[in-house]
Amino acid sequence: MGRRITGPRASTAFTTIDIDKPGKQNGFVMIPHSPHDDAWGVTRIPIGVISNGKGPTVILEGGNHGDEYEGPIAIAELMRDLPADQVEGRLILMPSVNVPAAVAGQRTSTVDGLNFNRTFPGDPRGTMTQQISAFMSDDILPRGDAFIDLHSGGSSLDILPSSVVEPADDAELERKSIAANRAFDAPAIVVISNLGDTRTATASAIASGLITVGTEMGGCGTVSIEALEICRRGVRNVLSHLGVLPGHTIEIRHENQKVLELPGSKAFVYATMDGVFEGFHQKGREVRAGEEAGRIHCPWDPTRPPETLTYQADGILYGRRQPGRVKPGNCCLVVAAPYQEKI
Ligand SMILES: [Zn+2]
Repeated sequence: MGRRITGPRASTAFTTIDIDKPGKQNGFVMIPHSPHDDAWGVTRIPIGVISNGKGPTVILEGGNHGDEYEGPIAIAELMRDLPADQVEGRLILMPSVNVPAAVAGQRTSTVDGLNFNRTFPGDPRGTMTQQISAFMSDDILPRGDAFIDLHSGGSSLDILPSSVVEPADDAELERKSIAANRAFDAPAIVVISNLGDTRTATASAIASGLITVGTEMGGCGTVSIEALEICRRGVRNVLSHLGVLPGHTIEIRHENQKVLELPGSKAFVYATMDGVFEGFHQKGREVRAGEEAGRIHCPWDPTRPPETLTYQADGILYGRRQPGRVKPGNCCLVVAAPYQEKI
Protein backbone atom coordinates (compact mmCIF):
# COMPACT_ATOMS: atom_id res chain seq x y z
CA MET A 1 0.00 0.00 0.00
CA GLY A 2 1.10 3.50 -0.74
CA ARG A 3 4.11 5.21 -2.09
CA ARG A 4 7.02 6.01 0.22
CA ILE A 5 7.82 9.70 0.34
CA THR A 6 11.48 10.61 -0.09
CA GLY A 7 11.78 14.23 1.02
CA PRO A 8 15.00 16.00 1.99
CA ARG A 9 14.47 15.07 5.65
CA ALA A 10 13.86 11.44 6.63
CA SER A 11 10.20 10.88 7.48
CA THR A 12 7.89 7.98 8.35
CA ALA A 13 4.96 9.63 6.49
CA PHE A 14 3.61 7.97 3.37
CA THR A 15 0.67 8.42 1.01
CA THR A 16 -2.03 6.06 -0.30
CA ILE A 17 -1.91 7.76 -3.72
CA ASP A 18 0.85 8.70 -6.17
CA ILE A 19 0.82 12.51 -6.12
CA ASP A 20 2.67 12.62 -9.45
CA LYS A 21 0.36 10.27 -11.39
CA PRO A 22 -2.04 11.76 -13.99
CA GLY A 23 -5.78 11.53 -13.42
CA LYS A 24 -7.98 12.02 -10.39
CA GLN A 25 -7.21 10.33 -7.08
CA ASN A 26 -8.46 10.76 -3.54
CA GLY A 27 -6.62 9.22 -0.61
CA PHE A 28 -4.63 10.01 2.48
CA VAL A 29 -1.30 11.14 3.80
CA MET A 30 -0.57 8.59 6.53
CA ILE A 31 1.47 9.67 9.54
CA PRO A 32 2.31 6.88 11.97
CA HIS A 33 0.95 7.63 15.42
CA SER A 34 1.30 5.34 18.41
CA PRO A 35 -0.97 6.34 21.31
CA HIS A 36 -2.12 4.11 24.19
CA ASP A 37 -5.00 2.48 22.31
CA ASP A 38 -3.36 2.08 18.88
CA ALA A 39 0.24 0.91 18.93
CA TRP A 40 0.86 0.83 15.16
CA GLY A 41 -1.85 3.16 13.87
CA VAL A 42 -1.75 6.24 11.68
CA THR A 43 -3.30 9.71 11.51
CA ARG A 44 -4.97 10.02 8.09
CA ILE A 45 -4.88 13.42 6.36
CA PRO A 46 -7.16 13.57 3.32
CA ILE A 47 -5.48 14.47 0.03
CA GLY A 48 -6.80 14.67 -3.52
CA VAL A 49 -4.91 15.08 -6.76
CA ILE A 50 -6.52 16.12 -10.04
CA SER A 51 -3.89 16.08 -12.78
CA ASN A 52 -4.37 16.46 -16.50
CA GLY A 53 -2.11 17.70 -19.28
CA LYS A 54 0.52 20.39 -18.90
CA GLY A 55 0.06 23.34 -16.59
CA PRO A 56 0.91 24.68 -13.17
CA THR A 57 0.48 22.81 -9.90
CA VAL A 58 -1.80 24.59 -7.44
CA ILE A 59 -1.97 23.47 -3.80
CA LEU A 60 -5.22 24.16 -1.94
CA GLU A 61 -5.08 23.94 1.86
CA GLY A 62 -8.01 24.10 4.30
CA GLY A 63 -8.26 23.11 7.94
CA ASN A 64 -4.96 24.74 8.83
CA HIS A 65 -7.02 25.74 11.85
CA GLY A 66 -9.76 23.25 12.65
CA ASP A 67 -12.54 25.74 13.47
CA GLU A 68 -12.50 27.59 10.12
CA TYR A 69 -14.97 26.00 7.75
CA GLU A 70 -15.69 27.76 4.45
CA GLY A 71 -12.38 26.80 2.78
CA PRO A 72 -12.53 23.11 3.73
CA ILE A 73 -16.09 22.87 2.36
CA ALA A 74 -15.05 24.46 -0.95
CA ILE A 75 -11.96 22.24 -1.34
CA ALA A 76 -13.86 19.03 -0.53
CA GLU A 77 -16.45 19.98 -3.17
CA LEU A 78 -13.70 20.20 -5.78
CA MET A 79 -12.41 16.76 -4.72
CA ARG A 80 -15.86 15.25 -5.26
CA ASP A 81 -17.19 17.23 -8.20
CA LEU A 82 -14.36 18.49 -10.45
CA PRO A 83 -13.61 16.12 -13.35
CA ALA A 84 -9.99 15.75 -14.45
CA ASP A 85 -10.75 16.82 -18.02
CA GLN A 86 -11.60 20.35 -16.79
CA VAL A 87 -8.08 20.73 -15.34
CA GLU A 88 -5.00 21.82 -17.27
CA GLY A 89 -2.15 21.12 -14.87
CA ARG A 90 -2.52 19.73 -11.36
CA LEU A 91 -4.48 20.46 -8.21
CA ILE A 92 -3.31 19.09 -4.87
CA LEU A 93 -6.30 19.34 -2.54
CA MET A 94 -5.96 19.12 1.24
CA PRO A 95 -9.21 20.27 2.91
CA SER A 96 -8.38 19.18 6.49
CA VAL A 97 -4.62 19.42 6.70
CA ASN A 98 -4.51 19.58 10.49
CA VAL A 99 -6.99 16.74 10.77
CA PRO A 100 -6.91 16.26 14.58
CA ALA A 101 -7.89 19.95 14.95
CA ALA A 102 -10.51 19.72 12.18
CA VAL A 103 -12.19 16.66 13.68
CA ALA A 104 -12.36 18.45 17.05
CA GLY A 105 -13.52 21.76 15.51
CA GLN A 106 -10.66 23.49 17.32
CA ARG A 107 -8.00 25.97 16.25
CA THR A 108 -5.20 23.88 17.69
CA SER A 109 -4.42 20.17 17.59
CA THR A 110 -5.97 17.91 20.20
CA VAL A 111 -2.91 15.63 19.91
CA ASP A 112 -0.13 18.01 20.93
CA GLY A 113 -1.89 21.35 21.56
CA LEU A 114 0.08 23.11 18.80
CA ASN A 115 -1.10 25.76 16.36
CA PHE A 116 -0.17 24.21 12.98
CA ASN A 117 0.33 27.68 11.52
CA ARG A 118 3.17 28.42 13.93
CA THR A 119 5.16 25.21 13.29
CA PHE A 120 6.62 25.65 9.79
CA PRO A 121 8.98 24.33 8.46
CA GLY A 122 8.06 21.57 10.91
CA ASP A 123 10.02 18.59 12.10
CA PRO A 124 9.58 15.07 10.64
CA ARG A 125 10.77 13.67 14.00
CA GLY A 126 8.64 16.06 16.06
CA THR A 127 5.09 15.93 17.40
CA MET A 128 2.09 15.18 15.13
CA THR A 129 1.52 18.83 14.15
CA GLN A 130 5.25 19.34 13.48
CA GLN A 131 5.25 16.21 11.31
CA ILE A 132 2.32 17.50 9.25
CA SER A 133 4.00 20.86 8.62
CA ALA A 134 7.25 19.03 7.75
CA PHE A 135 5.34 16.96 5.19
CA MET A 136 3.88 20.16 3.69
CA SER A 137 7.32 21.81 3.64
CA ASP A 138 9.23 18.85 2.21
CA ASP A 139 6.76 17.03 -0.02
CA ILE A 140 3.88 19.34 -1.02
CA LEU A 141 5.15 22.93 -1.34
CA PRO A 142 8.16 21.94 -3.53
CA ARG A 143 5.72 20.46 -6.06
CA GLY A 144 3.68 23.68 -6.31
CA ASP A 145 3.63 26.78 -8.48
CA ALA A 146 0.89 28.39 -6.40
CA PHE A 147 -0.60 27.95 -2.93
CA ILE A 148 -4.09 28.83 -1.71
CA ASP A 149 -4.49 28.73 2.10
CA LEU A 150 -8.13 29.17 3.11
CA HIS A 151 -8.66 30.54 6.62
CA SER A 152 -11.58 32.13 8.44
CA GLY A 153 -11.82 34.00 11.73
CA GLY A 154 -12.24 30.83 13.79
CA SER A 155 -13.88 30.60 17.19
CA SER A 156 -12.37 33.77 18.66
CA LEU A 157 -12.68 36.31 15.82
CA ASP A 158 -15.28 37.66 13.42
CA ILE A 159 -13.40 39.04 10.39
CA LEU A 160 -14.43 40.94 7.27
CA PRO A 161 -14.37 38.45 4.37
CA SER A 162 -11.12 39.16 2.54
CA SER A 163 -8.28 37.59 0.65
CA VAL A 164 -4.83 37.88 2.17
CA VAL A 165 -1.45 38.76 0.67
CA GLU A 166 1.63 37.32 2.38
CA PRO A 167 4.40 39.92 1.87
CA ALA A 168 7.37 38.81 -0.23
CA ASP A 169 10.93 40.14 -0.48
CA ASP A 170 10.67 39.34 -4.19
CA ALA A 171 8.61 42.25 -5.58
CA GLU A 172 7.70 40.30 -8.73
CA LEU A 173 6.37 37.39 -6.65
CA GLU A 174 4.35 39.81 -4.51
CA ARG A 175 2.93 41.44 -7.65
CA LYS A 176 1.85 38.00 -8.96
CA SER A 177 0.31 37.13 -5.59
CA ILE A 178 -1.63 40.41 -5.53
CA ALA A 179 -2.91 39.72 -9.07
CA ALA A 180 -4.11 36.28 -7.94
CA ASN A 181 -5.73 37.91 -4.89
CA ARG A 182 -7.59 40.30 -7.19
CA ALA A 183 -8.94 37.29 -9.11
CA PHE A 184 -10.23 35.81 -5.81
CA ASP A 185 -12.54 38.83 -5.76
CA ALA A 186 -13.27 39.09 -2.03
CA PRO A 187 -14.63 42.50 -0.96
CA ALA A 188 -11.18 43.44 0.39
CA ILE A 189 -7.52 42.44 -0.01
CA VAL A 190 -5.43 42.65 3.14
CA VAL A 191 -1.64 42.42 3.40
CA ILE A 192 -0.88 40.47 6.60
CA SER A 193 2.65 39.73 7.80
CA ASN A 194 1.74 38.23 11.21
CA LEU A 195 4.28 40.70 12.67
CA GLY A 196 6.98 39.11 10.53
CA ASP A 197 6.41 35.54 11.77
CA THR A 198 7.87 33.11 9.22
CA ARG A 199 6.43 29.95 10.83
CA THR A 200 3.17 30.12 8.84
CA ALA A 201 2.11 28.08 5.81
CA THR A 202 1.86 31.13 3.56
CA ALA A 203 5.26 32.50 4.66
CA SER A 204 6.76 29.09 3.83
CA ALA A 205 5.03 29.07 0.46
CA ILE A 206 6.32 32.55 -0.37
CA ALA A 207 9.84 31.53 0.75
CA SER A 208 9.52 28.57 -1.65
CA GLY A 209 8.66 30.98 -4.49
CA LEU A 210 4.96 30.07 -4.85
CA ILE A 211 2.29 32.57 -5.89
CA THR A 212 0.26 32.69 -2.68
CA VAL A 213 -3.33 33.58 -1.83
CA GLY A 214 -4.68 33.44 1.70
CA THR A 215 -8.14 34.23 2.98
CA GLU A 216 -9.94 35.32 6.08
CA MET A 217 -13.59 34.43 5.58
CA GLY A 218 -16.21 35.13 8.26
CA GLY A 219 -15.53 33.51 11.60
CA CYS A 220 -17.24 33.06 14.96
CA GLY A 221 -16.75 29.31 14.46
CA THR A 222 -19.71 29.25 12.07
CA VAL A 223 -20.26 28.73 8.33
CA SER A 224 -21.12 32.13 6.84
CA ILE A 225 -23.52 31.97 3.88
CA GLU A 226 -21.94 35.11 2.39
CA ALA A 227 -18.33 34.02 2.95
CA LEU A 228 -18.90 30.49 1.63
CA GLU A 229 -20.27 31.93 -1.61
CA ILE A 230 -17.25 34.27 -1.89
CA CYS A 231 -14.92 31.36 -1.15
CA ARG A 232 -16.42 28.94 -3.69
CA ARG A 233 -16.35 31.56 -6.45
CA GLY A 234 -12.96 32.93 -5.42
CA VAL A 235 -11.22 29.55 -5.54
CA ARG A 236 -12.46 28.82 -9.07
CA ASN A 237 -11.58 32.37 -10.14
CA VAL A 238 -7.99 31.98 -8.89
CA LEU A 239 -7.63 28.58 -10.54
CA SER A 240 -8.82 30.09 -13.80
CA HIS A 241 -6.47 33.08 -13.36
CA LEU A 242 -3.56 30.65 -12.91
CA GLY A 243 -4.55 28.74 -16.05
CA VAL A 244 -5.55 25.48 -14.31
CA LEU A 245 -9.29 25.79 -15.05
CA PRO A 246 -9.22 27.09 -18.65
CA GLY A 247 -12.96 26.55 -19.20
CA HIS A 248 -13.98 28.70 -16.23
CA THR A 249 -14.80 32.36 -16.84
CA ILE A 250 -13.52 34.64 -14.08
CA GLU A 251 -16.42 36.48 -12.51
CA ILE A 252 -15.51 39.80 -10.89
CA ARG A 253 -18.09 41.51 -8.67
CA HIS A 254 -15.79 43.84 -6.74
CA GLU A 255 -14.19 46.16 -9.30
CA ASN A 256 -12.87 48.52 -6.62
CA GLN A 257 -11.53 46.16 -3.99
CA LYS A 258 -10.20 47.89 -0.92
CA VAL A 259 -6.50 47.09 -0.47
CA LEU A 260 -5.54 47.20 3.18
CA GLU A 261 -2.77 46.07 5.50
CA LEU A 262 -2.46 45.31 9.18
CA PRO A 263 -0.20 48.14 10.37
CA GLY A 264 2.08 46.07 12.64
CA SER A 265 1.37 45.84 16.35
CA LYS A 266 -0.75 49.00 16.18
CA ALA A 267 -3.41 46.97 14.34
CA PHE A 268 -4.39 45.20 17.54
CA VAL A 269 -6.40 46.33 20.56
CA TYR A 270 -5.55 44.04 23.47
CA ALA A 271 -7.43 43.43 26.70
CA THR A 272 -5.86 45.11 29.72
CA MET A 273 -7.77 43.33 32.48
CA ASP A 274 -9.81 40.28 33.35
CA GLY A 275 -13.47 40.85 32.51
CA VAL A 276 -16.09 41.18 29.79
CA PHE A 277 -15.35 43.21 26.67
CA GLU A 278 -17.90 45.63 25.19
CA GLY A 279 -16.88 46.72 21.70
CA PHE A 280 -18.29 50.05 20.56
CA HIS A 281 -18.35 49.52 16.78
CA GLN A 282 -19.39 47.10 14.05
CA LYS A 283 -17.00 45.55 11.51
CA GLY A 284 -16.16 47.74 8.54
CA ARG A 285 -16.53 51.07 10.39
CA GLU A 286 -13.83 53.70 9.90
CA VAL A 287 -11.89 54.31 13.10
CA ARG A 288 -9.13 56.69 14.23
CA ALA A 289 -6.06 56.24 16.41
CA GLY A 290 -6.89 57.41 19.92
CA GLU A 291 -10.63 56.93 19.47
CA GLU A 292 -12.40 54.96 22.20
CA ALA A 293 -12.86 51.39 20.94
CA GLY A 294 -14.62 49.68 23.82
CA ARG A 295 -14.36 48.92 27.50
CA ILE A 296 -13.84 45.99 29.82
CA HIS A 297 -16.33 45.45 32.61
CA CYS A 298 -15.83 43.33 35.70
CA PRO A 299 -19.36 42.25 36.72
CA TRP A 300 -18.09 40.12 39.61
CA ASP A 301 -16.38 43.19 41.10
CA PRO A 302 -19.14 45.71 40.37
CA THR A 303 -17.70 48.69 42.19
CA ARG A 304 -14.62 48.55 39.97
CA PRO A 305 -14.97 51.01 37.07
CA PRO A 306 -14.61 49.65 33.51
CA GLU A 307 -11.31 50.18 31.67
CA THR A 308 -11.56 51.94 28.31
CA LEU A 309 -9.52 50.71 25.33
CA THR A 310 -8.57 52.88 22.36
CA TYR A 311 -7.62 52.20 18.75
CA GLN A 312 -3.92 52.53 17.95
CA ALA A 313 -4.24 53.13 14.20
CA ASP A 314 -6.43 54.85 11.62
CA GLY A 315 -8.31 52.48 9.33
CA ILE A 316 -11.37 50.27 9.32
CA LEU A 317 -12.46 47.79 11.96
CA TYR A 318 -11.38 44.49 10.35
CA GLY A 319 -11.89 41.96 13.13
CA ARG A 320 -13.75 41.73 16.43
CA ARG A 321 -13.31 39.23 19.23
CA GLN A 322 -16.25 36.87 19.38
CA PRO A 323 -16.40 35.69 23.04
CA GLY A 324 -17.25 38.47 25.48
CA ARG A 325 -15.06 37.07 28.24
CA VAL A 326 -11.49 38.39 28.10
CA LYS A 327 -8.23 38.07 29.97
CA PRO A 328 -5.27 40.48 29.78
CA GLY A 329 -3.54 40.17 26.40
CA ASN A 330 -6.55 38.80 24.51
CA CYS A 331 -7.02 40.34 21.07
CA CYS A 332 -10.28 42.30 21.24
CA LEU A 333 -10.19 44.23 17.95
CA VAL A 334 -8.15 44.39 14.74
CA VAL A 335 -7.78 47.48 12.54
CA ALA A 336 -6.73 47.37 8.88
CA ALA A 337 -5.22 50.50 7.32
CA PRO A 338 -5.01 51.55 3.66
CA TYR A 339 -2.09 49.89 1.84
CA GLN A 340 -0.02 52.19 -0.32
CA GLU A 341 3.02 50.35 -1.62
CA LYS A 342 3.52 48.14 -4.66
CA ILE A 343 -0.13 48.23 -5.83
ZN1 LIG B 1 -6.76 30.29 10.46
